[in-house]
Amino acid sequence: MADVWRFFSHEDDLPDLDADALCGRLGAELSIPTVDGPTHDQTDWAAFDRLEAFFRASFPLLFDAARVEKFDHSLMLTVPGRNQELRPALLLGHMDVVPVVPGTEADWTYGAFDGHVDDEYVWGRGALDMSDQVMGNLEAVEYVLGHDGLPERTIIVCMGQDEETLQTGARTMGAELARRGIRCEFSLDEGSYVVSDLAPYGASGRHGLMVFLAEKGYADVRLTVRSAGGHSSNPFGGTSLATLGRAIARLAEADWGCEVTPLLRQTLEAVGAGGGADLDPREFLADRDLFPYVTTTCAPTMICGGSAQANVMPQDMTATVNFRLLTGTTAADVLARVRELVADLPVEAELVAEVSNDPSAVSVLEGAGAEGLRAACERYFVDPATGEPLPLVPALLLGASDSRMYECCCGTCLRFSPFVADADEVSRGIHGTDERITRRAYLQGIRLLVHLLRTTCC
Ligand SMILES: [Zn+2]
Repeated sequence: MADVWRFFSHEDDLPDLDADALCGRLGAELSIPTVDGPTHDQTDWAAFDRLEAFFRASFPLLFDAARVEKFDHSLMLTVPGRNQELRPALLLGHMDVVPVVPGTEADWTYGAFDGHVDDEYVWGRGALDMSDQVMGNLEAVEYVLGHDGLPERTIIVCMGQDEETLQTGARTMGAELARRGIRCEFSLDEGSYVVSDLAPYGASGRHGLMVFLAEKGYADVRLTVRSAGGHSSNPFGGTSLATLGRAIARLAEADWGCEVTPLLRQTLEAVGAGGGADLDPREFLADRDLFPYVTTTCAPTMICGGSAQANVMPQDMTATVNFRLLTGTTAADVLARVRELVADLPVEAELVAEVSNDPSAVSVLEGAGAEGLRAACERYFVDPATGEPLPLVPALLLGASDSRMYECCCGTCLRFSPFVADADEVSRGIHGTDERITRRAYLQGIRLLVHLLRTTCC
């Protein structure tokens, strides 16, 4: 039984929202399998064409008012504001979804691409990540156009085609906006999907809504050890596996530094846990939940080339170590430090450049978008224990999103999901099995978005 509703407030706003129609359209969207292939060539782009046709049929006011541009299969819709002096608002999302994990198809209660809708849930791959927000953005703009006419502020909706893989869509659209000299007031993209328990931050019994203002960087470092192998009865000097093992252990045990960043101070201040000058980052480093927020993390994840037989020494071997970089540390810094740590071993270290990126910039939680989001959250999310609105908590995103691709045209990139679910639903459903969203949460997210658009753009 879903429980996240206990935080909802003002569900009686916008009584003309038609729940059956809204949930039906979300279900219809989820039935179009815009799945990322393992490579660009293996993606079924015809599904993206069907999705575009579905959007055009479902949102006539929006597609009539907007300039529609396609970048490969990504879509940019620009609804011109009446006041061209105002900086545009940017609503972001990705149309692609991850595949169903092979072999788990039968574990789904309803088919992942059936678009099943019942009295409580809308089911399907993408229901949380992030067709709900993509459709919610379109529904909210359509609603505002229908009730209020053209907005004061230009609204740009960007929908990428490959967030879960290469992120070329977002990269292209962000660069294009920058090339046109467009500076946006704020952007809104996916965030945490849950109402967060603030206990790990020392605010036990309290809850809040996370808005991620920055993302950690990402670096894969590949270690290679070369060896001719041979019979294991004379392993003089150690096998390639022994050498690789020593190198991995050095990286895993190394001190990657720790720091209470200005953003972590902002987080702590917002939850009321105090952001004093005397915070000791080593205390966070010892905490399972909080340590990724104060350090660059090092996770050895892949090893290749081990011998298939116990009496045969392995030949060339490689290992891949995944780093998540704290603000202030670049991928080049990590590579240099890895090379230093293994300098006396016969190990080569290189950066897997095509997947690595430095940490994002840190957005400022100021201006019309930030104030509008705060006000919308206060209206629609309330702590049932105290009756107080839930605080909007600025924080660092440990993973990655499309948002950093828009930093070139926006200084307030807000990674925030108005569509929430219980934590167990999120951990099971996102990229997993039985992904679904409650009808109530979907409706509530649309109310929040309409409120945000009305206060910031109309
Ligand atoms: Zn996503």
